[in-house]
Amino acid sequence: KKFVYMFNEGNSGMKELLGGKGANLAEMTSIGLPVPYGFTISTEACNDYYEAGKMVSPEVKDQILQSLARLEENTGKRLGDPSNPLLVSVRSGSVFSMPGMMDTILNLGMNDETVEGMAQLTNNPRFAYDSYRRFIQMFSDVVLEVDVYFFEQLLEDYRENKGYTSDPELTAEDWQEVIAGYKKIVKERTRKDFPQEPKEQLFLSINAVFDSWNNQRAIVYRRLNKIPDHLGTAVNIQSMVFGNTGNDSGTGVAFTRNPSTGENVLYGEYLINAQGEDVVAGIRTPEPIATLESEMPDVYKQFSETCHLLEQHYQDMQDIEFTVERGKLFILQTRTGKRTAQAAIRIAVEMVEEGIIDKNTALLRVDPDQLNQLLHRRIDESAVRTQLAKGLPASPGAATGAVVFDADEAEELGNEGKKVILVRPETTPDDIHGIIAAQAVVTSRGGMTSHAAVVARGMGKACICGCEALKIDLKARQFRVGETIVNHGDIITIDGATGEIMLGEIPMIEPQLSDEFQLLLQWADDARKLGVRANADNPEDAKKAFEFGAGGIGLCRTEHMFMDAKRVPIVQKMILAENYEERSAALAELLPMQQGDFEGIFEAMQGLPVTIRLLDPPLHEFLPDKEELLVEVTKLQILNPDSEELAQKELLLKKVRQLDEFNPMLGHRGCRLGMIYPEIYEMQAKAIFYAIATLSEKGMSVKPEIMIPLVGHVNELKEMRQLVVDAALKVQEETGYPFDYMIGTMIEIPRAALTADQIAEEADFFSFGTNDLTQTTFGYSRDDAEGKFLQAYIENKVLPDNPFAVLDQEGVGKLVETGVKLGRKTKPQLKTGICGEHGGEKSSIEFCYNTGLDYVSCSPYRVPLARLAAAQATI
Ligand code: PEP
Ligand code: MG
Repeated sequence: KKFVYMFNEGNSGMKELLGGKGANLAEMTSIGLPVPYGFTISTEACNDYYEAGKMVSPEVKDQILQSLARLEENTGKRLGDPSNPLLVSVRSGSVFSMPGMMDTILNLGMNDETVEGMAQLTNNPRFAYDSYRRFIQMFSDVVLEVDVYFFEQLLEDYRENKGYTSDPELTAEDWQEVIAGYKKIVKERTRKDFPQEPKEQLFLSINAVFDSWNNQRAIVYRRLNKIPDHLGTAVNIQSMVFGNTGNDSGTGVAFTRNPSTGENVLYGEYLINAQGEDVVAGIRTPEPIATLESEMPDVYKQFSETCHLLEQHYQDMQDIEFTVERGKLFILQTRTGKRTAQAAIRIAVEMVEEGIIDKNTALLRVDPDQLNQLLHRRIDESAVRTQLAKGLPASPGAATGAVVFDADEAEELGNEGKKVILVRPETTPDDIHGIIAAQAVVTSRGGMTSHAAVVARGMGKACICGCEALKIDLKARQFRVGETIVNHGDIITIDGATGEIMLGEIPMIEPQLSDEFQLLLQWADDARKLGVRANADNPEDAKKAFEFGAGGIGLCRTEHMFMDAKRVPIVQKMILAENYEERSAALAELLPMQQGDFEGIFEAMQGLPVTIRLLDPPLHEFLPDKEELLVEVTKLQILNPDSEELAQKELLLKKVRQLDEFNPMLGHRGCRLGMIYPEIYEMQAKAIFYAIATLSEKGMSVKPEIMIPLVGHVNELKEMRQLVVDAALKVQEETGYPFDYMIGTMIEIPRAALTADQIAEEADFFSFGTNDLTQTTFGYSRDDAEGKFLQAYIENKVLPDNPFAVLDQEGVGKLVETGVKLGRKTKPQLKTGICGEHGGEKSSIEFCYNTGLDYVSCSPYRVPLARLAAAQATI
């Protein structure tokens, strides 16, 4: 079996086998780009390594040695040859890009002899020793597991002793002394000499890369991004080129378009006379790529032509690592560039306009999940604010929070629901948990492609990088900007789009959709066949939904209208009523209020369909908490035993106790309320019909869809349907206006799905309430499960996802399919939709389309996402 491939033996179709990086190197080699020679050890070799009990099998080893021989032939250099040494990089490369997650070794092949050879060959001993010490440090860190701290400390002490302030001041002799010190550290820490034999170095490194597939941060990243564990990583061995051989050399990273805004300009940065990790690690702040044009015009020209070639070839924006060795350009790697949602949209739309891709490809290029970044709030331009400092605008979005300096603390406070901003000199992959939990990230060092910037952009989190004005004192837990000191816990606001940092909290404004975004969504609307509606229960949300392109309201939860502070006392009066008359009086007070709400919503939706659900939650939700009430009553019994207040509270307590249930979510709620207190549903139905009558007087035609919740037996729906029909007749008689309406039901109890053929006899439409349907199908309380056991289930992979967020297609989905099939058997034209949380989740949306639903309904902010996901399901 073939485990090792020279770069010219592969292509981009071999990602599974060669990893993303390896497949790309192969592809680039095949299209004639200036890629340094090398070979890739396949992901199968990684799995073989684990199967063999973490050992490179003789077969694989043999193939590696053969490929090495070919590499030596291609480059004309030999590993370990002092007169002309081959040096290589060893990098991991998994199928999906995992930035900063896996380990890399550069300059492999250096030893006490080859370093001398390099010094002579390049006529630059300083560079040779510098490379050697870098190699010892990296190799020791990654392979021998000696903490970099020891090396950094030694170097810092050395610099201090010599009175140097930066590395370039060290001479060749200095580096030789540092190397001696480094080797001593290795000997002390590992009880062995630093390995001198290059082939031993090579195989140790390969093992380390395979091992890094299962290091902690790689595991966390995979979990976060749902990358399967079994894929394994490939290893890329590539001959080194040097960006640190003098001022005609350099190294950099660039995107073929701006990854933050999407603008079609080369974007990136480089460092003169430096090695790759200097840029990514963010230790020196690099120059923008535009400067290269004036400093090395020939190289820049070749570079921009290469970028163009790459984009034409891959038909997407690329993220490129390059090195210039003595005036010659080398492309080290290219991959599809990560980008903000804003950039993703602009790039997709412009590439259609440039004729590079078609509309469907453009629609598939934007991840619906990313869109919420654009729907984020921004800083109100008109707000008074004083800028404290300005850094690089690394990832857009605005955020306010308390300053913390430590990723663990950010995680802890973030998980408690506190808003924090993580401020660090720079971040590393070990900080990832803190970045996840923080509102935003600020670093004082590093560029737009530093770790913090790349990770934050991927998460859609606001980030500012390289803000050098920040003098961070981690020990004192504070940072200083000029005279101003900001302490741990102080509130700051940051704007990731401009790079501004401000003290205190600054007002923010709601987002607007860009022209490109609107255009893309329009293409999505043209492509999709699935309707998208919104869940909204007040005129403001309805307006937002309309603005975001909802085709109607799929769920208006009327209980939210009952929870308004001014209305609660009336609602309570209705609940406490001893008899029908008292209850009717309270309901009569509520009716005009409900009617007003409905008029507002109908108006906001401008004639689009609106589905209104009659009251759903158990009545005790509108009454005070039992425990608190008990405390109050007990207090009054002692302090004021004869008061009217006590009598009232006691009555309330009695009612609360009467309504108390062991399982309220399975209790007296949904249509069971309407069955026992028909006057409540009657009032609501009338309020809807009066609202329609009022609007039709104003010349507006509305066709409401009245929805009965939690039906489990057709007889419930039959009775409630009659009640609504009677209410309609009464209002029609009273107002003299004829109107049209539909009556449907939610399918959110398994029995309803299983008997949907009977239920469809009484229903004009079905709306799947997958929140309750998930609750009742799994038998998990939707209010308790997440906190109690569901999290552990997901972490331990008992369940693939949280079923309350991602529809469980195998189980709950089967009931949805059954419901649709049986319902349409009775009524072929039956309208069907979904209004549970899943209506705004992309995989669930795809399922809804495949199941033949007419529409999905989700929160207004998710409507754009749903429009795009619905289009992607169709393509
Ligand atoms: C549902 O159960 O899916 C639903 C939409 O209703 P609610 O969340 O209000 O119970
Ligand atoms: Mg429900």
